[in-house]
Amino acid sequence: MKVRAQISMAMNLDKCLGCNTCTVTCKNVWTNRQGAEYMWWNNVETRPGPGYPRQWENQDKHNGGWVLDGGKLKLRIEIKKDYKPPGLDDYYEPWTYEYEVLFSEKQTDQQPVARPISLIDGRPMDVSNGPNWNDDLAGTDLLLEDPNLDPLQKSIYTQFKDVFMMYLPRICNHCLNPSCLAACPRKAIYKREEDGIVLVDQSRCRGYRYCVAACPYKKVYYNWKTGKSEKCILCYPRIEAGQPPVCALTCVGKIRYVGVLLYDADKVLDVAAEPDPTRLMRRFIDEVLLDPFDPDVISAARSAGIPDDWITAAQRSPVYKMVKKWQVAFPLHPEFRTLPMIFYVPPLSPVVTTFEQAYGAKITDVFPRVSELRIPVKYLASMFTAGDTALVEQALKKLIAVRIYERSKNVTEPGLADKAKQALAEAGLTEQDAEEMYRLFAIARYEDRFVIPTNPKRYANQPQLQRGVAGLP
Ligand code: SF4
Ligand code: SF4
Repeated sequence: MKVRAQISMAMNLDKCLGCNTCTVTCKNVWTNRQGAEYMWWNNVETRPGPGYPRQWENQDKHNGGWVLDGGKLKLRIEIKKDYKPPGLDDYYEPWTYEYEVLFSEKQTDQQPVARPISLIDGRPMDVSNGPNWNDDLAGTDLLLEDPNLDPLQKSIYTQFKDVFMMYLPRICNHCLNPSCLAACPRKAIYKREEDGIVLVDQSRCRGYRYCVAACPYKKVYYNWKTGKSEKCILCYPRIEAGQPPVCALTCVGKIRYVGVLLYDADKVLDVAAEPDPTRLMRRFIDEVLLDPFDPDVISAARSAGIPDDWITAAQRSPVYKMVKKWQVAFPLHPEFRTLPMIFYVPPLSPVVTTFEQAYGAKITDVFPRVSELRIPVKYLASMFTAGDTALVEQALKKLIAVRIYERSKNVTEPGLADKAKQALAEAGLTEQDAEEMYRLFAIARYEDRFVIPTNPKRYANQPQLQRGVAGLP
């Protein structure tokens, strides 16, 4: 067992407002400069929809991630032969407006107009695409470009009574088996040993853009001004100081949780090459991600030089609890085989709107069954568990059970307490789990949402600081 520690994030999609505050704050801090106008290291997509860049999930078109060749992992793109990064049409042509016209125009009968102009060459342009082009437009034809929709049922999703929508915030997944890194012939992309953050060394990059094509999430961008590739850096200068990334700090819905995950580096390639994608997903959680309370894991982590405060952080990590302990958070498209380390708690649908129809006016049944939810479980499974609906159903059951349990504490209703106990039992949760989940999901404080130890480099020459942290054997 080769234990490594990684800073990881989980997002609770139930609470995402689609406000894009995360997007704007990230933009202002990192990509507010020439050459990076069209880059959205953080973006929030309205789903179903084509996403950004357009149809990034369609690997027949975009050629990202890994495939199996005779049981062995192989990049889907063939370096130097098969070079297809997305074009400007897949992203969009960035634009601004001629604002100065509003101030400098001579007086006329007409109100002056600030026309859109290209941010690349300054010419007037018609705006016809953007990073959020289908924002909040569930029910339009654009959503049919979403590959997660069941092809046989596509037509029903455009009928008003059946449409559904949700938000999907995305950043680089800082994968354990990053195809961007493997595709770089210059070895300019590297995964940091101490915290797993994947970075592009700007001094080595020559702008070949194989990484752009190879990333199945399309989270590497080419800077047309510098001629080099860039990507989300998980705000590593902030992480090193124990601070959350800007997107997480400023998240209005408080949906983002940041913490340490311990993983077994020896298992990464074997699990990434698991032939059955749904088994891959389960093995990722069961075998690659480690239990930070396991004495063998603790001792192997110490032997690998992981400081004790990182191990205790892994034990307190909200991401560990959501992904490994309760198994309610999943990675995006595990079938791309990069083992992504950003996780998502799938959303419940709006609950109260369906209860009358499903249950009459029985207030005790205010929470619908998983099968009654508006967002199809199959759709969520296609996005988060390589199609394994049972995993998603189990996670949603747990989330509903916690709500029923919390409600039973506050509402006097005959039989409600028994119902809550039954819901918890069916979801495989104890009352203590439910209390803990409620605190983390609903009313978590800053220090519960962000458990980030400072950079271990600080401890490199101070072995006396690596031992004796309270609570560890
Ligand atoms: S999500 Fe990030 S780490 Fe993973 S392949 Fe894409 S750019 Fe690389
Ligand atoms: S700031 Fe938070 S709530 Fe708003 S869109 Fe981003 S992730 Fe969602």
